[in-house]
Amino acid sequence: MKSAPIRLTIIGAAGRMGKSVVDVAQNDPEIQIAALCDLGDSIESGLKNSDVAIDFSQAESLEEICRAALHHRKPLVIGTTGHSQRQREILEETGRSVAIVLASNFSVGVNVLFWLTRKTAELLGSDFDPEIIETHHKMKKDSPSGTAKSLGEILNTLRNSEISIQSIREGEVVGEHTVIFAGPGERLELTHRAADRAIFAAGALRAAKWIINKAAGLYSMQDVLGL
Ligand code: NAD
Repeated sequence: MKSAPIRLTIIGAAGRMGKSVVDVAQNDPEIQIAALCDLGDSIESGLKNSDVAIDFSQAESLEEICRAALHHRKPLVIGTTGHSQRQREILEETGRSVAIVLASNFSVGVNVLFWLTRKTAELLGSDFDPEIIETHHKMKKDSPSGTAKSLGEILNTLRNSEISIQSIREGEVVGEHTVIFAGPGERLELTHRAADRAIFAAGALRAAKWIINKAAGLYSMQDVLGL
């Protein structure tokens, strides 16, 4: 017997990413859009009749989202970036009671870049100095990007030193990230270029299907992809 579609709330539905999630979800027979929430809409009533919510809004909405998820015991997929330390703590607290996927980037390619960055840093060792360059469209609110911060965290844990991140804001660039390893007499660069927001939307929907029956916890896109 065919199972019922997953009922989805999209938070930040009127934004660039929200619209892309709506487009991809509308063409997915396993998903039924239950609620579209943007500024002024009640996230709580959206979540009440949903199985899961995907958030691409702004960091300030996090408390309201977590409160609603705890109240209705619903899992979350958080794609919003730029959270403060306090907001990260709220996510961790909420993750003790409900299942959450938190990802600064939902593309398969960038998650492979995370894996390759760790592996490359281990293989090249301390003779090579890593550096990160990211480029995004002019409207992006946070800087550096959440993805660049994630790359920085991977390199920090291996090197135990602050990694330089250069942020460029120009035109309509969806998202580009390069990790440079500069060594004596040679240089290795790993680059990912996103051409279409649909890759993030498709990844977030994959995460939403994956998280539905998982135990409480804070999961990453690497968990979803089994990397
Ligand atoms: P955007 O500004 O185009 O859209 C954000 C939307 O959220 C707007 O429509 C705004 O009105 C709405 N919003 C703000 N506060 C809200 C609230 N309290 N409740 C409901 N809606 C609210 O931004 P965007 O380019 O779509 O990006 C959104 C977020 O997603 C950013 O943090 C961005 O960095 C992040 N992002 C993540 C990924 C990823 O793969 N994880 C990819 C792209 C963008």
